[in-house]
Amino acid sequence: MQSSLNVEKIRVDFPIFKNNPELIFLDNASTTQKPQSVIDTLSHYYENYNSNIHRGIYTIAEKATAAYEETRDKIAAFISADDRRSIVFTRGTTESINLVANSWGQSLKPNDEVLITEMEHHSNIIPWQLISEKTGASLKYIPICEDGSLDLSNPDQYFTNKTKIVCVIHQSNVFGTINPIADIVTLAHDVGALVLVDGAQSIPHHSVNISQLDCDFFAFSGHKMMGPTGVGVLYARTELLEEMNPFLGGGEMIREVSMEKSTWNDIPWKFEAGTPNIAQVIGLGSAIDYLNGIGMKSIVEYEKELLSYGQKKLQNIPGITIYGTTKEKGAVISFNMDNIHPHDVAHILDTSGIAIRAGHHCAQPIMKHLNVSATNRASFYIYNTYAEIDSLIDGLTKTVDLFT
Ligand code: PMP
Repeated sequence: MQSSLNVEKIRVDFPIFKNNPELIFLDNASTTQKPQSVIDTLSHYYENYNSNIHRGIYTIAEKATAAYEETRDKIAAFISADDRRSIVFTRGTTESINLVANSWGQSLKPNDEVLITEMEHHSNIIPWQLISEKTGASLKYIPICEDGSLDLSNPDQYFTNKTKIVCVIHQSNVFGTINPIADIVTLAHDVGALVLVDGAQSIPHHSVNISQLDCDFFAFSGHKMMGPTGVGVLYARTELLEEMNPFLGGGEMIREVSMEKSTWNDIPWKFEAGTPNIAQVIGLGSAIDYLNGIGMKSIVEYEKELLSYGQKKLQNIPGITIYGTTKEKGAVISFNMDNIHPHDVAHILDTSGIAIRAGHHCAQPIMKHLNVSATNRASFYIYNTYAEIDSLIDGLTKTVDLFT
């Protein structure tokens, strides 16, 4: 099959493939490989201008501060946010959501409702369980349908004047389903509720326009979009950030400190206490440059082709069940093989160098809904090829043969 991207050229940018010629990496929903440019950016920082930011008035510290703040501008542009002060650096999606739950969530009261979905990753469930328990608010959820979409057939049941925030995954890490965020935002805003979107799985693979989505919070991780681990982003409307109390206290998030009380720095720095992951933030900027260089439109198009090719091939394997069959779907395929435990499937594939994920994918409520303990999951990115999908199919066919 002809690819719409020059994948062989792209693969050369990723040293992991040169260093592991047998590796077929199909676990991109978990984390992604890093192009040489991102790796070089990290070592260039450490080798040339390693220093703390927002403090030193010497040359290399000013250079580090400028590079760190430049990433904020790159991210604002990447997600079409109109104000750079909306971009808060965190350690990842998990920390971004915990920031909102612990800070904005302090305003929740008994009788208020937090609305999540049955499709959430644990990191968009647990923080809301914790803050609901603390404040006396109730936690409600929108159930999922058999095809892996959200059941929005009776929205009045869930979106009420008690709903204060709706927390929803943009693209499911299990089903690949892309949720109708614009519709959900309308339903939520109509009842006066805010919307937090978990964008961990959407932003690496789609063109995200925050102004169009019109959500209030959007969380994502750098490592799933070719950036380093240890860095993530919280987008939030500036007026919300202004009102919210800080999440973490410490250096650099303050304006004035006395032994009695303190006042806070301007946003977004009010939410960036302590020395941040400077190298990783700058590295994330480099990952954004890389993605922009390829173009999100081309990425979307190629991944659609991979998904369609993979789904067609996979569904012909005897005894396979594929979970998540909606039309609006990212390049993620979760499946089980009759009478073969997912861990056995993943282990056998690994003997041929094929890396897929097997487990509950930090989404135990989905596993419960599907009545399974785990699934296999193959997830693609732009460096994957049709030939690699063929190898996956061969590996699965051999696994079936081994067990029959
Ligand atoms: N949400 C979703 C949908 C995810 O897939 C993940 C990562 N598996 C997370 C949140 C958590 O991301 P992180 O571990 O980078 O904080």
